[in-house]
Amino acid sequence: MSFESFKLHPDLLRGINALGFEKPTPIQTQAIPSAMAGRDLLACAQTGSGKTAAFLLPVLHQILDQPRGTTRALVVTPTRELAAQVAADLQDLARFTPLRAAAVFGGVKMGPQEKAFRRGVDVMVATPGRLLDHLSRPYANLDSVEYLILDEADRMLDMGFLPDIRRILGQLPKRRQTLLFSATISREIAALAGGLMRDPVSVEVERSGSTAELIEQSIYPVEQHRKTALLLDLLEKGEVVDALVFTRTKRRADRVAQQLSKQGIKAERIHGNRSQGQRTAALAGFKKGRIKVLVATDVASRGIDVEALGHVVNYDVPGAPEDYIHRIGRTGRAEVKGNAFTFVSLQEEADVRNIERVLRRKLPRIRVPGFDHGAVSWGTKAGGNESAGGGSNGNGRPNGNGRSPSNGNGRSDHGAGQPPHGSRSTRLGSRRGRQRSGRR
Ligand code: AMP
Repeated sequence: MSFESFKLHPDLLRGINALGFEKPTPIQTQAIPSAMAGRDLLACAQTGSGKTAAFLLPVLHQILDQPRGTTRALVVTPTRELAAQVAADLQDLARFTPLRAAAVFGGVKMGPQEKAFRRGVDVMVATPGRLLDHLSRPYANLDSVEYLILDEADRMLDMGFLPDIRRILGQLPKRRQTLLFSATISREIAALAGGLMRDPVSVEVERSGSTAELIEQSIYPVEQHRKTALLLDLLEKGEVVDALVFTRTKRRADRVAQQLSKQGIKAERIHGNRSQGQRTAALAGFKKGRIKVLVATDVASRGIDVEALGHVVNYDVPGAPEDYIHRIGRTGRAEVKGNAFTFVSLQEEADVRNIERVLRRKLPRIRVPGFDHGAVSWGTKAGGNESAGGGSNGNGRPNGNGRSPSNGNGRSDHGAGQPPHGSRSTRLGSRRGRQRSGRR
């Protein structure tokens, strides 16, 4: 399957080529033909699957030959970052077309966004709250919208946006094409979809397949109060070169960034209490490589898209497996292999088991002497001594690199016959090469 076979507008194909996309991702292969044919779509796809182009391309294709000056497509996203990211992706895909788009979200001035309404940009990408602010003013209406896209719909419901979404829907024409994208299709999502779509085509891409192939995931058992020390240790040893680090709360994000900065690591944070300007500056610094560690909370991280991001570190284990999947989806993107390290205190072991249940596999555990919380993880009794597999050289001392990879049964889980650290250092080597050329 190639992009040419979709018979997309040639100017969009030029954009796709310029981005270097060689072939459609599975979600694009499944979604684009039906959406181009005008069908409503209920798509189950996670971040990193190529979902944004999957909904943008068919919509841009359909509006390209229509007159300009009218807002025909509306994309609704849960967060500012995601809105900005979708608008940026749109700009990239549509760079050889006359199409215009605007991102409409809170935390920045209303004025330029008002102008976009007045001008009638072709595509509006908006978060619910700010969009409703505009819609209460006389200059804004969405009477001409023919295409509605709800992106990360599950997240919007989690964030309590359902009433806002219903209010927005009430202001849109009934005759329209609707595309709903969600990482999970819960009963609530199905109910929402049932109420706003006509005979939708359902598409779904395999969840664990793509995650497993692109992202090397490891669990680091660690005492709760030693987490920052462990992160510093991994940074010092070069096991982590740069990372997006997730914490459970804004305060913890502040604290971790502060502790790292004190140790001379260039760190920034991005969360709900930071202004839009601060968030944008932090993200830009991270993308350029000026900032080594970006500490984020889940909500603020939505829409962060950094190519060639080698490491995601879950400083805290997310309570919901979905959040884990979203977090690690920030690495291993665009066919570049990534790493996801999860720091697990004793209290968080149950949450890890939940995640492993959803992934349908056990994740390898890496025990770093001096940091390990000391508990034997579930189902690890086989062989009696976990460290016997990879962490000990038989004389009771840790092996050369001082770490002990184990999948719970004393064997390495990093691939048959391959020394796990050999493979990692090879990859780190290549990552450093990529890093020099800068991130996007
Ligand atoms: P998304 O799931 O939309 O957040 O996309 C994840 C990443 O994949 C983004 O960096 C896109 O630029 C990239 N991407 C999207 N489609 C393709 C493709 N067909 N080939 C390679 N990379 C892609």
